Amino acid sequence: MGLETATSGSIMLFDENVQSTPIQKRNVDTVSSVQMVFQNPFDTLNPSMNVGRQIIRALEIFKQGKSDEDRHARMLELLDLVKLPRAFAERMPRQLSGGQKQRVGIARAFAGGAKVVVADEPVSALDVSVQAAVTDLLMDIQRENKTTLLFISHDLSIVRYLSDRVMVMYLGHVVEMGTTDQVFQPPYHPYTEALLSAVPIADTKVTRKRIVLDGDIPSAMNPPPGCPFQTRCRWKSQVPGGLCDREMPPVQVLEGGHQIKCHLSAEVLATMEPVIKMAAE
Ligand code: SF4
Repeated sequence: MGLETATSGSIMLFDENVQSTPIQKRNVDTVSSVQMVFQNPFDTLNPSMNVGRQIIRALEIFKQGKSDEDRHARMLELLDLVKLPRAFAERMPRQLSGGQKQRVGIARAFAGGAKVVVADEPVSALDVSVQAAVTDLLMDIQRENKTTLLFISHDLSIVRYLSDRVMVMYLGHVVEMGTTDQVFQPPYHPYTEALLSAVPIADTKVTRKRIVLDGDIPSAMNPPPGCPFQTRCRWKSQVPGGLCDREMPPVQVLEGGHQIKCHLSAEVLATMEPVIKMAAE
């Protein structure tokens, strides 16, 4: 997003390096190409501007439309896109529910024809009853516009539902990465295994292994030596020689390009059992 610049590594937006260009120094094309849907829609709208004006403002900033009439027409189309009645253009943010505010946030994110949209826990602040509708809306728009959607979430059931590829992070490290099928079945990174065991499941035909992680998450500013997960890992004893305490694990590339950052041998990884299973009939 350019709100912070990267301290190392590179961030490529197509063939442009953007990791060290803060948002203030990015050109309009780059800014409109990478947009964000924020976690809390209650804080992101301007309370003194009506909905239509807020969307038109985004269109002006992204230099969309040749005239005010063009932008007004585009604003109404964006309301259609996020399934809000056109009459909402006249409403003030305080007259909207949380889910409706988030739809306005989504309309603004897509106003400049974004190629990448970063959605940071976009439904976690919303009432459970509207979470599914807003998630489905994001997926519909993403498919229609062929936008890349980077969806950040703690809710693995939503992640499984909408993702093609999944990256699992712990203390700022990518600990596992792969297709959704690869990440949701063994072998897992030990952290992914514990995360999966915490997913609430209402279906009585499904059984789930409970894995309780001991201890607190260490500070990312003062991480433990060796593997970042070693203070809470139940598999650590399977790695000989105290390696987990001393050395950062390498990224192992498994079948199909599935990546796991762990010292566990391929033989031990192969013994992992599924966390979630259908109960025998
Ligand atoms: S490297 Fe060691 S501590 Fe880290 S996840 Fe793998 S087994 Fe656990």
